[in-house]
Amino acid sequence: MNLLAVTGLAISLSDLAVASPLSDAIEADYSYLEKLFQHFHANPELSMQETKTSDRLAKEMSELGYEVARNIGKTGLVGILENGNGSTLLIRADMDGLPVLEKTGLAIASKARQVNLEGEDMPVMHACGHDMHITSLIGVARRMVELKDQWQGTLMLLGQPAEEALGGAKAMVADRLYERVGRPDFALAMHVIAKYPAGKIVFNDGLMYSSADTVRITVRGIAAHGAAPHLGRDPVLIGSQIVLALQSIITREVSPLEPALITVGAFRGGTAPNVIADHAQLDITVRANTEKTRAQLLKSIERVATQTARAAGVPENLLPIITVADDGAPTTINDAALSRRVREAMEAGMGSDAFVDWYQSDMGAEDFPDLVNVDPPIPSVYFEVGGTPPDQIATGSWASHHSPLFQIDAETSIKMGVEAMTLGALELLSAP
Ligand SMILES: [Zn+2]
Ligand SMILES: [Zn+2]
Repeated sequence: MNLLAVTGLAISLSDLAVASPLSDAIEADYSYLEKLFQHFHANPELSMQETKTSDRLAKEMSELGYEVARNIGKTGLVGILENGNGSTLLIRADMDGLPVLEKTGLAIASKARQVNLEGEDMPVMHACGHDMHITSLIGVARRMVELKDQWQGTLMLLGQPAEEALGGAKAMVADRLYERVGRPDFALAMHVIAKYPAGKIVFNDGLMYSSADTVRITVRGIAAHGAAPHLGRDPVLIGSQIVLALQSIITREVSPLEPALITVGAFRGGTAPNVIADHAQLDITVRANTEKTRAQLLKSIERVATQTARAAGVPENLLPIITVADDGAPTTINDAALSRRVREAMEAGMGSDAFVDWYQSDMGAEDFPDLVNVDPPIPSVYFEVGGTPPDQIATGSWASHHSPLFQIDAETSIKMGVEAMTLGALELLSAP
């Protein structure tokens, strides 16, 4: 036997490992899931208004024999399947679309519009792939019913509202989620991600997403005539100085080895060229990779804004008002041991070639940690599923999340997502 023959044997064995009874079953079920995906893609709903999506998920789960608890955190729901003694696993999928006008030209492109919570009529699109998540959730629901003799315990499938607005997880917990359905021992979640090739599952033992906080600084000045600025205190000038000074927090206060981000996304101030306004407003997003840096940034922003106003001669009773919105998201960090356990189980079923290591290329955030950072915390694993055909990754011709052109390879990513999540669930609910 020569070396080539040995190599050939190794390849055919690993191919055998990839084609499993589970992947065959998912293949056979895909025509059902495809129709479901097309339905969800064409019928997206805005954050906290996912009523029809929630209805459809409840119907799918009830028909499979799951007991469904509804209206948790407004549109949130949990389907529960009890299967003897054992651990309880929660699998979370977010349900919301975005106020984006779809321009993919797909036959199933969304034409949906919805009046948002502020009363404005908006186009709606699944421009982040949450339609893939909820379709896969039902795919997993279907497999776990079929495989009931291979696991023991309780499975909770959770449809979460308003991930995009970063308030849905918090709303469900505040609405007594765990008092109502019980507390899980573990939690899993996933996101389809366009920057990774379809056909790959993406893992990290630790950080998955940065924290995100919204800070508003209302700079208060003293109004005056534009031709007599010395009689006032100009909030537009002070606000501009604050915008620049905030960036020095990143370069001079945070370690150069520590990622941190402050973006002043909106700056409103003034009404006319010849009027010194009495206030200006800065809306800021703040991102960090650790809770320590997150706290440091928020503290420094307050100091820089206050002292910049003082330096400009703003009286003590008119110093800036600084508020941190309470819908901020913590860092999403996997439980390292659980992450390794889940990845090993998935690799055993899908072959290690299907896995790539996670890398960070932006400071996106998630509100999944709000579901698990309870007291005591629920060990959790969040993984990603590649969404773009590899040839498009190679040429860079893919649209990012939240773009009107966002488009994933639904078939590959749903099949991979269902298989990985089912393998993770079977591992965590393996008979004691
Ligand atoms: Zn998104
Ligand atoms: Zn998303």
